Amino acid sequence: MNILIYSYIFIMGLVFGSFFNVVGIRVPKKETLLGRSHCPNCNKQLGAIELIPVIGYLIVKGKCRECSSPISIKYPIMELLTGILFLVSFAILRENMVEYILIVMFISLLIIITVSDLYYQIIPDVILLIFFPIILTLRLLSPIEFWFDGLIGGIIGFGFMYLIALYGKKRFNKDALGGGDIKLYLIIGIVLGYQTVFLSLLFGSLIALLYSLFFGRKGGYLPFVPFIAIGSLLAYFLGNSILEWYMTILS
Ligand SMILES: [Zn+2]
Repeated sequence: MNILIYSYIFIMGLVFGSFFNVVGIRVPKKETLLGRSHCPNCNKQLGAIELIPVIGYLIVKGKCRECSSPISIKYPIMELLTGILFLVSFAILRENMVEYILIVMFISLLIIITVSDLYYQIIPDVILLIFFPIILTLRLLSPIEFWFDGLIGGIIGFGFMYLIALYGKKRFNKDALGGGDIKLYLIIGIVLGYQTVFLSLLFGSLIALLYSLFFGRKGGYLPFVPFIAIGSLLAYFLGNSILEWYMTILS
């Protein structure tokens, strides 16, 4: 029975991941979410097989069947990632359904804006506006310690990022952070609470630093969202254990 539920959740994750690709790519261009996907090179509509998450990509060997132009590996990667994250969080949170729905919403948001950031270097406002009330309501229904700790986390996240942006503007006279990043931290803070919201920024920055040391091109654009997404999920799942471990070292 368990294996059935787990397989079902994984497959749902793949299907949703496929939809999040579409949302992340089309919403910033104000395109309709309805209508079949088509090859960006020759405009041929994708067939039924190509629409199957991950497997479709493998069957066509990552190429358009009409014009043989390569299909981005980002599609199956985002699908797989969504499937894995839906599955792992279910295994961890299955005793607490409200919290599980909250984290599924959070993962969905992170996947969509990661896609938008990778393609256009923006976080669409409308996506944040849709997820904000849902995630806030779920956090109020499933508080971390007391009923308003998510709210405090949100205010801290937003305020801290706002100050960094202000400082960056004064110090370097250019926008180091976009408005989308600041608003995103309001939601991240609500999910993580005041206890671990800083950890997400710490983990995200460390991973971004390592990435740019090993793979970064000089002057190249370093996307912010994917690192913050990884940092936030690490902070969510491991933050409390890390804080407790840190406290035992200190005492
Ligand atoms: Zn094509």
